[in-house]
Amino acid sequence: MILVGIGSNLSGKAGSPIETVKESLRAMQTRGMTILTCSDFYDTPPVGPSGQGHYVNAVVRLGSVIGPHGLLRELQTIENQFGRQRSVKWGARTLDLDVLDWHGHLVHGRLNLPHPEISRRGFVLRPLMDVAPEWRHPETGLSVRALWNRLSVTERLKIMKL
Ligand code: ATP
Ligand code: CA
Ligand code: CA
Repeated sequence: MILVGIGSNLSGKAGSPIETVKESLRAMQTRGMTILTCSDFYDTPPVGPSGQGHYVNAVVRLGSVIGPHGLLRELQTIENQFGRQRSVKWGARTLDLDVLDWHGHLVHGRLNLPHPEISRRGFVLRPLMDVAPEWRHPETGLSVRALWNRLSVTERLKIMKL
């Protein structure tokens, strides 16, 4: 399955972070991707430099014939359309689209698959449980629920359904 993580914590031309996430779903469809399932939206505290606002996060399961590198390129084009600026690592952004998994393939290089941070991130694991409760990490074989349960209670309580 193809899984994409979506995040936004800055308003842009599409409006608020929630509007931006919704609009990004339309943008993916316009570019030939089929949204098979979309998670609930979550309010999550920022990871990275302090002083940035909370994020809206979601995960979608895509139907698409595009390969992983082509998919990343398409997603980056969409990020740019929404005014994404790359300045500070893990800094605030209008839109972030990450390829979380592409049919379980392992890729290392400019594109890393599965996304290396999945297992540590509640803001990815919680929405991932909505769209693919049967998913297992391609490298460790751990289920999404097992990964979620490994996070501390404090971490889990920070992820609020919108
Ligand atoms: P993180 O990747 O830790 O979530 P980020 O999303 O803030 O951080 P970006 O600035 O959006 O990082 O992307 C940095 C680089 O990561 C991009 O140039 C992209 O080519 C590369 N990259 C590697 N693997 C992936 C992936 N699976 N999904 C998205 N980008 C990836
Ligand atoms: Ca990211
Ligand atoms: Ca990214």
